Amino acid sequence: MEVPLQDLQTRSALLEPEYLAGIRRVLASGSFILGDSVELFESEWSSALLVDHTVGVANGMDAIEIGLRCLGIGPGDEVVTTSVTAAATALAIVRAGARPVFASVNPCTGLIDMASVERCLTRRTRALLLVHLYGYARDVQSWSSFCIQNGISLIEDCAQAHLAKSGGRFAGSFGDFGAFSFYPTKNLGAIGDAGAIVTNSKSLAVTARQVRNYGQSGRYEHVGLGLNSRLDEIQATLLSVGLKHLPLWTTQRQTVAAFYRNHIANPRVELLASPQDNSEHVYHQFVVRVSERTSFRQFLGDNGIQTDVHYPKSLDLQPVFREFARDPSGLSDTHAFTKTCVSLPCFPEISHDQASKVVEIVNRWNP
Ligand SMILES: *Cc1c(COP(=O)(O)O)cnc(C)c1O
Repeated sequence: MEVPLQDLQTRSALLEPEYLAGIRRVLASGSFILGDSVELFESEWSSALLVDHTVGVANGMDAIEIGLRCLGIGPGDEVVTTSVTAAATALAIVRAGARPVFASVNPCTGLIDMASVERCLTRRTRALLLVHLYGYARDVQSWSSFCIQNGISLIEDCAQAHLAKSGGRFAGSFGDFGAFSFYPTKNLGAIGDAGAIVTNSKSLAVTARQVRNYGQSGRYEHVGLGLNSRLDEIQATLLSVGLKHLPLWTTQRQTVAAFYRNHIANPRVELLASPQDNSEHVYHQFVVRVSERTSFRQFLGDNGIQTDVHYPKSLDLQPVFREFARDPSGLSDTHAFTKTCVSLPCFPEISHDQASKVVEIVNRWNP
């Protein structure tokens, strides 16, 4: 029995009738960009997260860039963030004209560390870009207070955290804005690229709608130097289909994760810190830490279990980001984390037998 990292074919086959019905509706409407399907998905996503506004855009990276531009963050400004994330997080900051500053992570969670963020603050710091890595939005209220105290904006990278909750509130609803990606492998994925900004600020939403569409306030009225970053009607209608299933998919991910947490028992395999009460970790990835990672992955692979590493090299070590600042005390915790993290198969369609096999093989590994 093989256990893949995820299984998008099974999901697509299940959703095919609903997808095709949606695509037919779009074809019949004759309106393919920024029409009724985008408006509908935007209102559904706002209702799902209990936020006032959703602005659909072309992808998750653009969502971050556009939100930063709406906040007037650009040249001369610094944005503190983590280097254990997708490159898009830091690239979006650079695209907005600002400079990322890399803070270290807590080795028990992989999430950004507050003492390190404090060391990264300068008089140029305008925002903290918090990444809810692996689907865990940890203690976001404390970050919100931290940002208010320090007079900076809070931005949430929610690309891995659809329907995640912290202190009973949805990820994305704490910050000046939240940025979502609907890349196909995310917890809610399109059949192509898609993204969204969520916010409770009317003015940020109005500006984001202009920026995504050539900076227009109305047809041929250009009030800003905008982008072309629109969510198209077909992706929006597919996302509305997926959203109906997302609560179940999320529960299924949490069930697998709980099973792993309860049954993985190998002294060489360390679990990440368990989620706090009153929070909902949505397990975009289920990550463990193993010091002999190569041997561990080889053993699992030989037994038909796919694994991956998120991420093998933190962004501060990528040559393209070398020029950017980092925690003056260094990033040794970050590097210790990225040397040992391993992602195990955790996806809604995984069967009980497959999950049991993962546990059995992980527990049998003895290098
Ligand atoms: C996927 C991802 C992004 C980028 O989203 P795209 O839609 O691919 O641009 C940004 N941040 C994180 C943490 C991600 O996982």
